[in-house]
Amino acid sequence: MDYMKLAELLFPNIDKTPEDYEAMYPQRDLPEGARVTRLGPSPTGFIHLGNLYGAFVDERLAHQSDGVFYLRIEDTDDKRYVEGAVEIIINSLRFFGIQFDEGATMDGDVGAYGDYTQSHRGPIYQCYAKKLVSEGKAYPCFLTEEEIGEIRARQEAAKATPGIYGEFAACRDWSYEQVKEAIDAGKPYVIRLKSDGKPAEAGGVRVKVEDAIRGTLEMPENFMDTVILKTTGIPTYHFAHVVDDHLMRTTHVVRGEEWLSSLPTHVELFSKMGWDMPVYCHTAQLMKLGEDGNKRKLSKRKDPELSLDYYRNQGYHPAAVREYLLTILNSDFEEWRMANPDAPIDEFRFTTEKMSNSGALFDLNKLNDISKDVLLKIPAEELYDFLKAWSDEFAPEYGHIFEDKAYLLQILDLGRQDKKPRKDLIYARQIVDFISYFFDDMFTIQDENPAEVPAEDVPVILSKYMETYDHSDDQSQWFDKIRAIATELGYAAKPKDYKKHPEEYKGHVGHVSTVIRIALMGRAQSPDVWTIQQIMGEEKVRSRFAGK
Ligand code: GLU
Repeated sequence: MDYMKLAELLFPNIDKTPEDYEAMYPQRDLPEGARVTRLGPSPTGFIHLGNLYGAFVDERLAHQSDGVFYLRIEDTDDKRYVEGAVEIIINSLRFFGIQFDEGATMDGDVGAYGDYTQSHRGPIYQCYAKKLVSEGKAYPCFLTEEEIGEIRARQEAAKATPGIYGEFAACRDWSYEQVKEAIDAGKPYVIRLKSDGKPAEAGGVRVKVEDAIRGTLEMPENFMDTVILKTTGIPTYHFAHVVDDHLMRTTHVVRGEEWLSSLPTHVELFSKMGWDMPVYCHTAQLMKLGEDGNKRKLSKRKDPELSLDYYRNQGYHPAAVREYLLTILNSDFEEWRMANPDAPIDEFRFTTEKMSNSGALFDLNKLNDISKDVLLKIPAEELYDFLKAWSDEFAPEYGHIFEDKAYLLQILDLGRQDKKPRKDLIYARQIVDFISYFFDDMFTIQDENPAEVPAEDVPVILSKYMETYDHSDDQSQWFDKIRAIATELGYAAKPKDYKKHPEEYKGHVGHVSTVIRIALMGRAQSPDVWTIQQIMGEEKVRSRFAGK
């Protein structure tokens, strides 16, 4: 068979050669050891935590090594394309501090290795498919859906592995004349890889791949005649990945573990093309602990926290999300953070070897804990700006709380400068709720008075409190007055006295001050009452007690 002639028959319009593309996309001129990574999302408009997790690995590998991180749009599956998706990807990732050096942008491509959108690269893939056909390493396959169905039925009956390979690959050994006749008859066809592999039982060997996260992977070689170009001339993921990552000079391919099963196909494709493979880094699935206590995959349907929008909408600070991602990405990050509490996060040396290769457990409670620590280090001014930007975008109904900046700054800093600082602030929606009692329109009574205080005592406590209230009292003068009210009404001045002799008192001073706290803030727990009153100012304090 004259494969050259076959290649010309199939690709008459492809006039560029692989050498032309090799020359167009030369090796990158980068320092020794620099890594080139890419994110290859499908533009579905849904950008999830897994994308961010992977992007983070890409970004660190590239930027820690003075390399390049680029964005490639993998839109060969055009059913999934959503208008504006590129913008969504870039903006969401930028918010979390992930910046691309190169690739697709809202205003077109940046960089010398484009086009960075797969659907624009048809002739490139076809050129390389033509090369494979011309070397007898790929062939046109005219099997219809129906015929493939029949083959599958035969395979099921014979308990053979399903797929198009070996004896089942009906068009694999067609002559030039057979192909020409089918093409002249207008029959649609795909291009398949002509695999040299064999099933294990027929003597197939095993392939070994060094994965940067998982170490040595050993798996059965590919033996499927995998489709590389669909009937439309558009490549499959497998072929596009191999061609693009070669031509764009990617050194490290970071992708989800769902691609592990097709790795042998990629190994064979790289080998048939005569190219070196990139270093693969197959990341673990993000898992969560389900209600039944078992680990399960995060699901788009069940887990709103899978979407990156969730974090923006809730108002998580990007620094907290980054800090959290590093704790699940690298097992030694927490230790490093303990030794370097104030160091900028980028000083941590991220490595793929320290990544987990069994499901990475994602835990919102842990994110919240980390967020508390991270927010504590962010100055109130910066926090103010962050909250305002969040409110402008996601929660304009809170716009009014930003009008009195000095007031809000004091509120945000409440208890944060103490020796043992309070860690009340987690994310924007929670913060707004936490501080809502400072604003009359958001103030509501949420908790009940303590059971130790009979209902008839409540108005008495509150009116006595107001009678003796002096806004200029210092903290100890103020508390002495509460003690006096407590004693006068039959409550112990000290909790420990009440504990010792509960029969002698109705309750203790803490119960009395809780009544005050609830009237003032609507809740039984809060930062220091005296300080809150100082921030609120006398007028607001008195208005809260008026008429109670
Ligand atoms: N387009 C593929 C996906 O969305 C990317 C896989 C890869 O990074 O190679 O899963």
